[in-house]
Amino acid sequence: MTNTTKSAALFAEAQNYIPGGVNSPARAFQAVGDTPRFIKRAKAQYLYDADDNKLIDYIGSWGPMILGNNHPAVLKAVQEVIEDGLSFGAATEREIQMAKLVCQLLPSVEMVRMVNSGTEATMSALRAARGYTGRNRIIKFEGCYHGHSDGLLVKAGSGLIAEGGTPDSAGVTPGCAQDTLTARYNDFESVEKLFQQYKGEIAAVILEPVAANMGVVPPEKGFLEQIRTICTEEGAVLIFDEVITGFRLSLGGAQELLGITPDLSTFGKIIGGGMPVGAYGGKKEIMEVVAPLGPVYQAGTLSGNPVAMAAGIAQLTYLKDHPEVYTVIDKLGERLYGGLAQIVEKAGAACSVNYVGSIGTLYFTDQNVRDFQTAKTADLARYADYFKFMMERGHYFAPAQFEAMFLSNAHTEGDIDRTLDSAAQYFGV
Ligand code: PMP
Repeated sequence: MTNTTKSAALFAEAQNYIPGGVNSPARAFQAVGDTPRFIKRAKAQYLYDADDNKLIDYIGSWGPMILGNNHPAVLKAVQEVIEDGLSFGAATEREIQMAKLVCQLLPSVEMVRMVNSGTEATMSALRAARGYTGRNRIIKFEGCYHGHSDGLLVKAGSGLIAEGGTPDSAGVTPGCAQDTLTARYNDFESVEKLFQQYKGEIAAVILEPVAANMGVVPPEKGFLEQIRTICTEEGAVLIFDEVITGFRLSLGGAQELLGITPDLSTFGKIIGGGMPVGAYGGKKEIMEVVAPLGPVYQAGTLSGNPVAMAAGIAQLTYLKDHPEVYTVIDKLGERLYGGLAQIVEKAGAACSVNYVGSIGTLYFTDQNVRDFQTAKTADLARYADYFKFMMERGHYFAPAQFEAMFLSNAHTEGDIDRTLDSAAQYFGV
């Protein structure tokens, strides 16, 4: 058995002072009934926990670490900038560099505003869309996560057409949720019905162009195209939440990979190189409603923070200068997720694998997972069992079924093969 004494002791102590012992529920290991590892340091494709166990990191801080942990280029940029001061609450040249870089890499982004998290990015993008259209209602998709702002903690009722949303979380008032309508991923008809029912009232449609928060669910052929068309026809703002997919599925994100142009996009994770950063941007005409130019208020004491900008600029510049990173991580994805698919097939296990490039999910259901309903057919107890088996052997996976695995440029084929060997052992093939 792996020694996890120190992690267990830290977790016990943490629970006295921090709700559930963690600062974000996703890292509590609650869904798999396990004790979280406390991480001491990380380098390249590895994490080292409090008991000095070395783990192959398939989470990568939930996405930011596309170049591997503590990449020298990012580290150097941060070390250089901290000498000059950690925060000024004033405009800096680096913010222009960052904005220019994002506008260059994403043709759909003509103007961009930096924030501090993905949650802020989506919340602010929706506010801008509402301010721009003068409409209140928004459409989101069941199983898509856009952070924890009140109006987005909503999923559908049982019907396809929700009569206003029902909050998922205690503490969210029905008033906050009532303008959030919920449609089904990969089901354009459910979107069309909402547009018909709320004619002229939809400010925006927000979605993950490749869903990655119910596990990975790719959009089916035509789904995004039809949404693009109806948004244009109905005067609604199309928002791609690229917090996970941005700068990952390609340098220009899912929108470049899939060839669809949203009106606004939201970013997080990779854009900050590991620092707390988010961003939202898009058409100039829409972004010009944001304060101080326009009437939509949105602000942030630490937004555009110099240290965060330095880390993000370093990582994005590295990606821009090394486009081969995408070839490498996609090939690793093929090896890992394709390998897992072969293993479960050989084992005759009731499992299925979805992946796009470097993100993927092994579902413990034999159904083709194409929306939240099918994702929910997964056997969570079996996922938990698999998770513990793999963790015990040093493979650090997402501690919940409905999450993606993330690969980085620092992973090697040898790492993937070791992980596949353990998975084969688990499935008895
Ligand atoms: N949007 C998406 C697609 C996400 O995956 C996440 C977080 N995983 C968020 C928004 C929220 O980002 P943050 O946790 O930085 O607030």
